[in-house]
Amino acid sequence: MIITDTHTHLYSEAFDEDRYEMISRALDKGISRFFIPAIDSSYTSSMLQLEKDYPENIFLMMGLHPTHVKENYKEELTHVQDMLSKHKFYAVGEIGIDLYWDKSTLDIQKHAFKTQIQLAKKHKLPIVIHCREAFDEIFEVLETEKSDDLFGIFHCFTGTLEQAHRAMSYNMKLGIGGVVTFKNGKIDQFLNQIDLSHIVLETDAPYLSPVPYRGKRNESSYIINVLKKLALLYNLSLEEVAEITTRNSKAIFKI
Ligand SMILES: [Zn+2]
Repeated sequence: MIITDTHTHLYSEAFDEDRYEMISRALDKGISRFFIPAIDSSYTSSMLQLEKDYPENIFLMMGLHPTHVKENYKEELTHVQDMLSKHKFYAVGEIGIDLYWDKSTLDIQKHAFKTQIQLAKKHKLPIVIHCREAFDEIFEVLETEKSDDLFGIFHCFTGTLEQAHRAMSYNMKLGIGGVVTFKNGKIDQFLNQIDLSHIVLETDAPYLSPVPYRGKRNESSYIINVLKKLALLYNLSLEEVAEITTRNSKAIFKI
């Protein structure tokens, strides 16, 4: 069984004590493909180190996270652009809009989002979207950028069925993680109305641990709990869900 974690921050400080053991725990459980979203330039060297350590398993993205869009964001975008032109990345992410942490940066967040979508198109890469309290604003940008070469993942999707359909209409797959196991997570109510061909699995480690680890540090091996929940919702075996979602991840990342 090959399981793909399409969104895991393996370089996070939260893993400084036991990073290699934590990755081994995941590998032992069949999670053998890890896609690593970027946050800002301060993490680039640790990401490149991880890729060196696990060239068969770890695949990097490049991008500027919306909560890190600050006064210096143009320099950060130059870094993203430079890195994309000199190193192989598998997506531009994570990018998007976050109005939970800071509403005052909405204009520059939008600008950074748009610029990075255009970079993704130029490099023929998928985008990985971070959306927090910003569905309308994100859809507004996607509406102006939509095209055949715009595609990717709506990471940590937690919207409604209607918002799911809208996201899919822009060639986005839905990244499903720990929230689907939450009692009040809501997406478990309608997810099986969406064909599994639109779904990929993720942890967003070290954040958003699935039940029974809710509230604790998340790690990629816990994706098994997300897999189990989807198997229940879709009435399929764990192997089938792993196979289909891994196939979906290959269609997006081209690896
Ligand atoms: Zn993330």
